[in-house]
Amino acid sequence: MDKQFETGLVWFRRDLRTRDCTALNLAFAQCRQVHCVFVFDRSILDPLPRVDRRVEFIRESLLELDISLRQLAGHDAAGLIVLLGTATQVIPELAQSLGIQALFAAHDYEPQAVARDDAVCKTLTDLQIEFISCKDQVIFEKQEILTQSGTPYGVFTPYKNAWLKKLSEQPLSLNNPDPAHACLARRPEQLQRAVPSLAEIGFSPSNLRTLQIPTGQSGAQKLLENFLLRIDQYHETRDFPAIRGPSYLSMHLRFGTISIRELVILAYVKSRQGSQGAAIWLSELIWREFYFQILFNFPHVATGAYRPAYDAIEWEEGELALSRFSAWCQGQTGYPLVDAAMAQINQTGYMHNRLRMVVGSFLVKDLGIDWRWGERYFAEQLNDFDLAANNGGWQWVSSSGCDAQPYFRIFNPVSQSEKFDPNGKFIRRYLPQLNDLSDKDIHSPWTATALAMKAAGVVLGENYPKPVVAHDQARAKTLLRYSVVKK
Ligand code: FAD
Repeated sequence: MDKQFETGLVWFRRDLRTRDCTALNLAFAQCRQVHCVFVFDRSILDPLPRVDRRVEFIRESLLELDISLRQLAGHDAAGLIVLLGTATQVIPELAQSLGIQALFAAHDYEPQAVARDDAVCKTLTDLQIEFISCKDQVIFEKQEILTQSGTPYGVFTPYKNAWLKKLSEQPLSLNNPDPAHACLARRPEQLQRAVPSLAEIGFSPSNLRTLQIPTGQSGAQKLLENFLLRIDQYHETRDFPAIRGPSYLSMHLRFGTISIRELVILAYVKSRQGSQGAAIWLSELIWREFYFQILFNFPHVATGAYRPAYDAIEWEEGELALSRFSAWCQGQTGYPLVDAAMAQINQTGYMHNRLRMVVGSFLVKDLGIDWRWGERYFAEQLNDFDLAANNGGWQWVSSSGCDAQPYFRIFNPVSQSEKFDPNGKFIRRYLPQLNDLSDKDIHSPWTATALAMKAAGVVLGENYPKPVVAHDQARAKTLLRYSVVKK
């Protein structure tokens, strides 16, 4: 087979795997020999606290990627080059020192990543090196799904229908690399170093191991295997945080330790075979892509409301806002489901989707806090933080986004709790001090009788907070606040 380039370099970013990895396959097809690199980018790492589960997850996943590349090559001189530096600088330097003719990388759609890639591309062009980028983390990207009038979709259901139609016209296939064609190059001796330790990149261990979060492509496969045993019930279980309903694959999708094509093929085939659970799960994967294309086509959402009229809303400010926000962050609002959910994110970096909606709505529509504060807090805490999905989720709860819930739909944190955690099992897991309250009282301890509270050993204001706001009053205030956007 005629190959276009003598030497290529694959730059792994959000595709930390060898299975069905588009950039890697492309490089194998077009180059006689291929180097592989990952950059711990200082411009991303420097602002982070020194303990971060995501950094540790990446490092663990790189260890596996490195082994996997060596196995594909059949020798240890191949493997992953791992650099610590600023990507815009170290990638062109490495490209030059390896004498490559082409750099291969998967598209990244976040505004900062786009700017980084533009800068790298420009430097490489000056060096007469090609930057070949490809679609990998979504099935349909950018403007591949448009309305009949050629504009991007702002409403989910017609987007989903168009997405499914396109999928049926362009069936997917997986491309796992064949060791016979894995033309991995020998790394120069000075680059044959092991993946750096956490300490070497300036971080300390998090509780990733204690939480037993599986890492790497093998970790993703383990989660997938387990989920496939449950996928048919997904539509019935997914809203109940005490039940193991969802897949827990979001962190793997974030870092590309699993191929989205693999998941979509599985879900699509099962849904065609009549699995309602698989059909609903496929919809969730399509929501993911919906928000990717929103961010790409409407980049203003990264800083403001999708519907600019919503930027006119006046949020609470000053001391009161700060103390309410702090109560929300620390899980001290006095609403047990909200507090248990915030304990979940603070302790594990994960939060169940139903709870993301409940706590988001509570912050914005009960506490009157700007949704961007919540968005930022989630960005810091979530293992699966993804700009497009997080922004989409926050704009959904605050009603400012595309296809968001109407502003007058305000979740009642108590009835959400009664409905989705009826026996208080999830609340008890994270708020043991409420353990002995009855299944009825646990959703709103302030309504329990003095006798019941005494028997359960709960003293409001001492071992559990009093409610920070009264929901009915907050609701009325929110409707007033949102009156600026009423049509
Ligand atoms: P599953 O239920 O198994 O879903 C499978 C996959 O579908 C997920 O891994 C995810 O990739 C995708 N998905 C599911 N629901 C959504 C959704 N509503 N929007 C976009 N993609 C979805 N998801 C993130 O991946 N990163 C975020 O930063 C993020 N922030 C959110 C913030 C808010 C306020 C809200 C309401 C939702 C947010 N979500 C985010 C979406 C959703 O909550 C998570 O994807 C889901 O809880 C992850 O768990 P899972 O992998 O077990 O999901």
